[in-house]
Amino acid sequence: MTSVALELGGSAGAVVASRLSDIPEWKVLLLEAGPDEPPGADVPSMVAMFLGTDIDWQYQTTNEMNACLSTGGSCSWPRGKNLGGTSVHNGMMYNRGHAKDFDNWAAMGNPGWSWRDVLPYFMCSENNTEIHRVGRKYHSTGGLLTVERFPWKPAIADDILAAAAERGYPISEDLNGDQFIGFTVAQTTSKSGVRVSSASAFLRPVRHRRNLHISLNATATKIIIENNKATGVQFYQDGELRVARATKEVIASGGAVNSPQLLLLSGIGPKEHLRAVNVTVVKDLPGRLLLANNNPLAKPIIWGNYLSDPMDVTILVEGIEIALSLANTSAMAKYNMTLNNAPLAACSQYPLMSKNYWACAVRQDTGPENHQAGSCKMGPINDPMAVVDNRLRVYGIRNLRVADASIMPQVTSSNTAAPSMMIGEKAAAYIKSDWGVAGTQWYGKEPCSMWKHNHNHHHWRYQ
Ligand SMILES: Cc1cc2nc3c(=O)[nH]c(=O)nc-3n(C[C@H](O)[C@H](O)[C@H](O)COP(=O)(O)OP(=O)(O)OC[C@H]3O[C@@H](n4cnc5c(N)ncnc54)[C@H](O)[C@@H]3O)c2cc1C
Repeated sequence: MTSVALELGGSAGAVVASRLSDIPEWKVLLLEAGPDEPPGADVPSMVAMFLGTDIDWQYQTTNEMNACLSTGGSCSWPRGKNLGGTSVHNGMMYNRGHAKDFDNWAAMGNPGWSWRDVLPYFMCSENNTEIHRVGRKYHSTGGLLTVERFPWKPAIADDILAAAAERGYPISEDLNGDQFIGFTVAQTTSKSGVRVSSASAFLRPVRHRRNLHISLNATATKIIIENNKATGVQFYQDGELRVARATKEVIASGGAVNSPQLLLLSGIGPKEHLRAVNVTVVKDLPGRLLLANNNPLAKPIIWGNYLSDPMDVTILVEGIEIALSLANTSAMAKYNMTLNNAPLAACSQYPLMSKNYWACAVRQDTGPENHQAGSCKMGPINDPMAVVDNRLRVYGIRNLRVADASIMPQVTSSNTAAPSMMIGEKAAAYIKSDWGVAGTQWYGKEPCSMWKHNHNHHHWRYQ
């Protein structure tokens, strides 16, 4: 099949495919290594049900010296392997990050990524069903991604908020609004209590488009690069290697592990490492993950280097102490809570519940969270760690972009699904603009990219 754009189908990738196929003259091929999302994933209480199954890549880190010690220095990194990627497995928390996260991205040499630049793209995606509560300053309606609070909440949720208030922490109506820090009942990517993955939000409504082809169980093994230009993708499907050609662009949206892996398999990465695993070097670029070998279906070698900075341990211990202190409030007294974790034998040299005990415990039983990012860092050309420029183009290779959490120059201080989808929105807008096609992403009556913040009026308007 000849396509104008080829890419992978995760949280960000689904957005890119949806937005690019808005252009009827463009043919878009979306390759997804896994199957369609399973119906069971729709049910929020079954959130962890598919972790560790065939639709999880089941990555493990290796060689951690300071973390995950109870599991031999190996931390678990679940990643979705299905249409919609990790947005089918995640906790659905809809948190965009702090304005400063994005202002820092811009200050690191990435024009177009400041808070005022990215906010319209968050709003472009959004259909907030609680607009009366959260207001229109930071939120919108009419987008493809439904955002709400779950229709039901247990009574303990309000008691936890009361406990936090008792301890002096601020309560926020909206952590994506003016008050980013504090306790809240979060909004989620769901609709009437049913999960909204990026596939169900962005692909299902456009699934009948004749110019959008979604190929499931198709694992990209290599980006074909000729004369420093991406011209297609080699992929593995139904037991054979196939090739799809792209006349315009190839977009890698495989997530923070698989996008750098695919670049490495295609010869883009640190030349010494590529030679060591017998991959022909196409472009010498940094990129933090290692291939185990040149088999495209083998898992890469991942090293998180968790908790090597003692400050991270101090912060985690402080978090544990705050969580424990909430149980010890009048708001929570009725639950008579006690810690039910058995004391860790590996930390028995420290008094139970002491700072030293917790510092030992977090190194033993580390929960590394799931916000992996930054492995194909966006940065200016003089940044020795940069893989893509501010329009997400891979340095030194034409017609090749990366669009997913891997491009974050610094991980956001929030969860990472909403920022990944925003990255997908921006990637599509850059691609359209670079090929001279007018924007098709709308906010109200105007294209997203044209919205600017009006400081005098404290709202967004077309300029
Ligand atoms: C358990 C868990 C809970 C989380 N909870 C939250 C939360 O509550 N809120 C939040 O905001 N974030 C949460 N996150 C994080 C968030 O979901 C991810 O950061 C985000 O979804 C990443 O998006 P992505 O587009 O970068 O990658 P992904 O969504 O992982 O997409 C990558 C896609 O590419 C496909 N792919 C990879 N390699 C290939 C290949 N070679 N060929 C073809 N296809 C390929 C994959 O199968 C996948 O579909 C959670 C993550 C996990 C694991």
